[in-house]
Amino acid sequence: MGAAIRRPLSEMFAGSGLPDDPWVLHFHCFLIRDAADRLTLVDTGIGGTDSPASTWAPVPGTLAGELAAAGVAPADIGTVILTHLHSDHASGAVADGRPAFENARYVVQKADLDAAKGPVLDDVVTVIKGQLHVVEGDAEVAPGVRVRHTPGHTPGHQIARAGELAMTGDLVLHPVQLDDPSVPYLYDDDQDAAVRSRTEVLAALRAERAILATGHFSEPFLRL
Ligand SMILES: [Zn+2]
Repeated sequence: MGAAIRRPLSEMFAGSGLPDDPWVLHFHCFLIRDAADRLTLVDTGIGGTDSPASTWAPVPGTLAGELAAAGVAPADIGTVILTHLHSDHASGAVADGRPAFENARYVVQKADLDAAKGPVLDDVVTVIKGQLHVVEGDAEVAPGVRVRHTPGHTPGHQIARAGELAMTGDLVLHPVQLDDPSVPYLYDDDQDAAVRSRTEVLAALRAERAILATGHFSEPFLRL
C-alpha cells in the first residue's frame, strides 16, 4: 500500500543526457492480519494534504483508500508500528488533526520520541500522544509481532517482524545496499550507526532467508 513520486530523469538531472524515463520513489506501508483477525499496520505513509510531508511529497497519500479497498476500516486496526518519525512514514498516523486509527496503539521507540521536532512533533506526535506505546529496544508489541531497535537512520529507528517477514522501514534505502551494506545514505542521521545496523540485521535476516518488506524499493517484497 502507498504512494509514489514520479519525475523524469531528464528533468532531475538537466543536461545529463539521461532519458525522460521517470525516477520513481515509492512509499510503502504494510498491513498484517493474523489468524485471529487482529490487524497491525506498519508505517502510515505521507498523509493528507496538510501533512508534514506536504512540502516535498505528492500528498495526499493513498493509504486510506487502499485500506478501504481491502475492506479495512481505520477503527479495525489495533496496532500501528511507526518504524521512525520521518514525515514519509509517520504523517498518515493522523487525519484531520486527530489520530487516524482511533483504536490503535502507536508503537514508537523512545529514542525517536526524544528526538522528534518540527512539524512531525507538532502535527503528529502531539496528536497521537494519548495512544502512544513507547518501547525501548526490542519488544513483542502484538501477538506474534515484534519490533527490533535498529538505530542509525534515526536514533529510534526500528524494524518489525511477523513470522518470516521483516518490515525494514529505512534500514535499507536502495537495493545496492543489499550487496554492500556499507554504502551510506545521505539522510541517515548517524551514518556509522546506520551501517552497523544494516550490516548486522541483513546478515541475520539472510541467515534465516527472511522476506524483506522494504519502505522505498520499487518492488517491496524480496526473499533474501
Ligand atoms: Zn523513508
